[in-house]
Amino acid sequence: MTIKELPTPCYIVDEGLIEENLKILAGVMERTGARILLAQKAFSMYALYPMIGRYLSGATASGLYEARLGAQEMRAPLEKEGKYCENHVFSPAYKEEEIPELLEYCDHIVFNSWNQVKKYGERAKALGKSIGLRINPECSTQEGHAIYDPCAPGSRLGVTRKAFEEGIRKDGGFLLSLLDGLHFHTLCEQDADALEETLKAVEEKFGGYLKGMKWINFGGGHHITRKGYDIPRLERCIRHMKEAYGLTVYLEPGEAVALNGGFLAASVLEVVHNGIHIAILDTSAACHMPDVLEMPYRPPLLHSGEPGEKPYTYRLGGPTCLAGDVIGDYSFDQPLQEGDRLVFGDMAIYSMVKTNTFNGMPLPSIVLKDRTGEYKIWKRFGYEDFKERL
Ligand SMILES: *Cc1c(COP(=O)(O)O)cnc(C)c1O
Repeated sequence: MTIKELPTPCYIVDEGLIEENLKILAGVMERTGARILLAQKAFSMYALYPMIGRYLSGATASGLYEARLGAQEMRAPLEKEGKYCENHVFSPAYKEEEIPELLEYCDHIVFNSWNQVKKYGERAKALGKSIGLRINPECSTQEGHAIYDPCAPGSRLGVTRKAFEEGIRKDGGFLLSLLDGLHFHTLCEQDADALEETLKAVEEKFGGYLKGMKWINFGGGHHITRKGYDIPRLERCIRHMKEAYGLTVYLEPGEAVALNGGFLAASVLEVVHNGIHIAILDTSAACHMPDVLEMPYRPPLLHSGEPGEKPYTYRLGGPTCLAGDVIGDYSFDQPLQEGDRLVFGDMAIYSMVKTNTFNGMPLPSIVLKDRTGEYKIWKRFGYEDFKERL
């Protein structure tokens, strides 16, 4: 099957490109001894979990379903190959009824408050689990994306130093004695300078508690596989925490694992004019690439330019009723015509995991491009997928 024969809309996940990312991450692990996990919330296309598990230390989950997927699709197949994949979970609050199953799937469980440690910590410990608490170092390093800043004032994510020490005072340090590690996650698509700054805040506020711990988890948001990312600086950060405190360092990137590792192919359905040229596609920003509207950003589009850069400029929009279902403005060498194929880049992350069927929109098929360049349809979706959620 060639790319022209694929049904649209479809995501194309490129195994070879994702493997390139995994090699970069494996290099960091080899040189520093850090353990890197896939944050499944960014990329849960489990057809590639066996390959990811061969390079990385395992997976991390945002809750029960991802934890189960990681256990079934990464840990189980890798166990057959004789490799143990770790399975971690963090949630702002766990439900009582989820705990037995979570403890079955996970070996690390990270809590978001002292009260959650109190509720579930001893039970986890009794089963030999490694337990952690998420801290909030109150060190914002990003501008403009308040919804992605867990250090913003009023954040519910992580325990501030004040709350950390209050908790210890309250129970005389018993809950602290249950902890094996501390976890922070404060970055989003950032470089190692932001990590370095954050680590300074972590050491300043929580350094006194790190000596008694086994591990520290740097969370995600490290854009390690982006061209130009300062890998030596990242490695200095990892080595520093290892050497100064004797800690095992975990990183749990989502984006960096599958960055630029996938595409979304769409077709032009119609061209209309209203002061500008507008192409209506069979894919929707609102349904198939919600981060375009949420972040917001303009996704890369192969063989296109900035508006006005090439002779023919179009606004690309979806077929839904939402006036704002606009992907962005792009220019082309030739006028767009019904049936033309457009291929958006960097569509492996935060795409398939976020789709919805608003307006009854069909879900894009998922296609796997293997290392030989062969395209295989992995999933097709239909009317039932829309109906069964309602
Ligand atoms: C989102 C998230 C990640 C992954 O973040 P990326 O930006 O995809 O690297 C890791 N850990 C936690 C706790 C997260 O919330």
